[in-house]
Amino acid sequence: MIYLDNAATTYPKPISVRNEVADCILKYGGNPGRSAHKLSLLAAETVWDARAEIADYLGIPDPSSIIFTPNATFALNLAIRCRVKRGDHILIGDREHNAVLRPVFRLKGEGIAEFSIYSGKGDVIENIREKERKETSILICNPVSNVTGDTLPVRRIASYAKARGFFLILDGAQWIGHGVPDHDVVALADAIAVPGHKALYGIMGGGFLYLKTAQDCAPFVVGGSGSDSASPSMPTDLPERFEAGTLPLPAIASLLAGVRFVREYGCERIAKKEALLNDYARNRLSKIPGIVLYGDPDNGSSVLSFREDGIKPEETALRLDRAGIAVRAGLHCAPLEHKRIGTFPDGTVRISYGVFNTKDEIDYLASILENNRGIIRGR
Ligand code: PMP
Repeated sequence: MIYLDNAATTYPKPISVRNEVADCILKYGGNPGRSAHKLSLLAAETVWDARAEIADYLGIPDPSSIIFTPNATFALNLAIRCRVKRGDHILIGDREHNAVLRPVFRLKGEGIAEFSIYSGKGDVIENIREKERKETSILICNPVSNVTGDTLPVRRIASYAKARGFFLILDGAQWIGHGVPDHDVVALADAIAVPGHKALYGIMGGGFLYLKTAQDCAPFVVGGSGSDSASPSMPTDLPERFEAGTLPLPAIASLLAGVRFVREYGCERIAKKEALLNDYARNRLSKIPGIVLYGDPDNGSSVLSFREDGIKPEETALRLDRAGIAVRAGLHCAPLEHKRIGTFPDGTVRISYGVFNTKDEIDYLASILENNRGIIRGR
């Protein structure tokens, strides 16, 4: 199987990650932060090590501001819900995932907050300015589209958000892990949502929210925290305030090993490899008659969307699956982005790379698509 669906989740996972998950289950599987026996303390130590490793990797001074969540969706919901107040206005970009669009749409339906969509085309700061209202309090930005890999000038957006006093939430799902983390941008953000199972090479079931401060932020899930148990309210400090219930220890342990893997492999090397594969794939596929490519050719990202002229994306994906190539077809949970590039409602076929992919695999994909085109032309 040639796996080109790394934007859904990376596969395979590095050996160090697999070993860490096995060790966690076999050797230190107590409940972190609950009991005081050895297994529980070892588990708590691993959770702390994971917070510290992530914080160091992202240039975050206090590991306590890393809140573990089941995925990026939970982290985004938490970031938005913990901060929003009745009557607020929220700004979101035109390439947001449903993990942002649906929470703000729901807030609007509940009569809690309004939202507007700013365009990433042209002068994005001017576009944001045009959509601002006096009630605007939260600005959300997806720095890298999970459909096209197109990027937004996140540094400029973050600086502007700070200058205007907006609570800045970054969707790190397609951004964090794909190169050298931009510590200056991280320093400007109030919240960053990250899945553990994508470019940080952890297993599914883990992610995190970096939340700069708990001040003015209310949890929306409450329950056991292992501390301050006599109180009917959640503790006030980070991260306990937002981590109700048992943590997903195997996923957190895998995330610790995954971040270490990414750092040891080399952040620059990852960025280079992804850009190289993307350029190579773009070049190979652009030579096949009837293939339409989407996105900025120079975005250097780890995803590429395309369509075969006159064929539904699902059909292309099915043919590729039969040939042993895993890709994703459809809207990729990002309808706004497809409206932007004109591929709504059928979507695109998306290939997405990880560190284990090779140029030979792209060659094989191209040969299957060439063959497909031959069959289609001969129909
Ligand atoms: N935002 C973006 C840009 C994504 O690509 C994804 C995952 N496809 C998410 C949010 C949601 O991530 P998760 O599946 O971990 O909740």
